Amino acid sequence: MTTVIQGCAVATVDAAGTEHPDGHVVLDGDRIAAVGPGPADPAVVAVADTVVDGRGCLATPGLVNTHHHLYQWATRGLAQQEDLFGWLTTLYPVWEGLDEEVVGAAAAAGLGWLALTGCTSTTDHHYVFPRDGGDVLGATVRAAREVGLRFHPTRGSMDLGRSRGGLPPDSLVETTDAALAGTLAALDEHHDPAPGSMLRMGVAPCSPFSVTEALMREAAALARDRGARLHTHLAETLDEEDFCRSSFGCSPTEYADRLGWLGGDVWLAHAVHLHDGDVRRLAGTGTAVAHCPTSNARLGSGLAPVAEMRRQGVAVGLGVDGSASNEESSLATEMHAAVMVARLREGPAAMTARDALALATVGGARVLGREDELGSLEPGKLGDVALWRVDGLGHAGCEDPVAALVLGSRPPLARLLVGGATVVEDDTLVTADQHDLAQRAVTATRDLQARSGR
Ligand code: ZN
Repeated sequence: MTTVIQGCAVATVDAAGTEHPDGHVVLDGDRIAAVGPGPADPAVVAVADTVVDGRGCLATPGLVNTHHHLYQWATRGLAQQEDLFGWLTTLYPVWEGLDEEVVGAAAAAGLGWLALTGCTSTTDHHYVFPRDGGDVLGATVRAAREVGLRFHPTRGSMDLGRSRGGLPPDSLVETTDAALAGTLAALDEHHDPAPGSMLRMGVAPCSPFSVTEALMREAAALARDRGARLHTHLAETLDEEDFCRSSFGCSPTEYADRLGWLGGDVWLAHAVHLHDGDVRRLAGTGTAVAHCPTSNARLGSGLAPVAEMRRQGVAVGLGVDGSASNEESSLATEMHAAVMVARLREGPAAMTARDALALATVGGARVLGREDELGSLEPGKLGDVALWRVDGLGHAGCEDPVAALVLGSRPPLARLLVGGATVVEDDTLVTADQHDLAQRAVTATRDLQARSGR
């Protein structure tokens, strides 16, 4: 299967920042075969299965989302004025009603929306496993297969309930042993470490205020034994900082360090409240960060020092975070938010439009340990491409297509390809019926909220 896209602007996001005002991208099988200026080789065009007329469009690498909670699609629009702890304590009782069907519908909707907004690879952090909920993690994997996105789910966990000083209700947490057994089973069932993989599992105890030290340490050992990456929330709010100081006598970053949770196989969601030396420690250990500017704003958590992290060489990607703390849930909007938030914190030089595109593509690929395969348009890399239409009313006249994409409103998507396969065409999902996904999400949301008496 060969696809040629030509006549479009191309932002390769390679190490040199190569761009072509009028260029082409050729995909052969699941890989990129050629990228360059002008039209593609006529001999290749003549025998291509598909030739896409890219005039009026910008081709970029598919976006990589490094933090999400897909199940939260079923609890959007709730706890609208709360900070993180207030928001969590409002939502925990609702999440007790989650089951395989609700999670599957929520995940399919969230994944469909990510595809429609330019994302080709996404993580998911699922940490709620109600006792009678069925195979909720498997439901997210099946949804990713249906929509056709490259998927990096993580088996999350919580084992520190309220009676032992944690934030979640006891009824929503697992025992430490059950969490570890579930994590091992998920790795056995789903993790595919092969090159070109569409499905890689990570291990992700939830946060310092919902997980015991024992689970943090043992989950890390288990993940490292299996060659899986580690993920958790860290340094998200000042409440979490207070919790760590009173419970462990140190900051969240020092706590993670003490537990062996900094390293080249770890990525942390948020990293908003960092102290002197923390950024250096993250950089020195190779620890990566999923920057979630919209969620941090929605919950009033704070402005992450993302420009400083980048200056010091921390691998940073973007994350939409769960749909209940970011109802928009699109990575394209997250690029826009990343620029705005960085400049609010440090002024107009803090981040360029191209910096934000790099965070959302090659930055995310680094965070997931896949920069050799993903994140830029270069021959040999996987054929994950977003083709944005930037000649409509919202963008016409903005002569810099990257500025149109990042600083302007989110453009329509002419095409989205994952491993060379078309997932979106003319702003419409082709792998699934998006109206059906929406209807299933409505039903799931109503069922879940009815269970919690809302
Ligand atoms: Zn999160």
